[in-house]
Amino acid sequence: MTTAHVMYVTECDHVNLCAPTLIQRGNHIWCAQCKDDKKITGVHVFEWHLMCLVCRYSRWTGTSEHMSQRLAGAHERTTLHKTEVSYARNPNAVDELNRLRKAKAL
Ligand SMILES: [Zn+2]
Ligand SMILES: [Zn+2]
Repeated sequence: MTTAHVMYVTECDHVNLCAPTLIQRGNHIWCAQCKDDKKITGVHVFEWHLMCLVCRYSRWTGTSEHMSQRLAGAHERTTLHKTEVSYARNPNAVDELNRLRKAKAL
């Protein structure tokens, strides 16, 4: 299972989480740090990821390795499964990056 959210890089060099379906026309998103609409200039495709080597449990945790480790530890404790944490390309983000490039939005 993967999250529907993608990490967008905006013209102000901030990274904002947003669902691709919520991208407004002109490819602007709300920057939480600038508190303003900003143009998308890229997609941050690498994210921390944890996956279970036994069951289908998996989560993307953005820039937070800590969150991946914490969820992995909790899953191992409750299920006695073995998990793996890595910094990897999120396929959702790669798809969205390709979509924006095709639309010549970047
Ligand atoms: Zn900003
Ligand atoms: Zn598991």
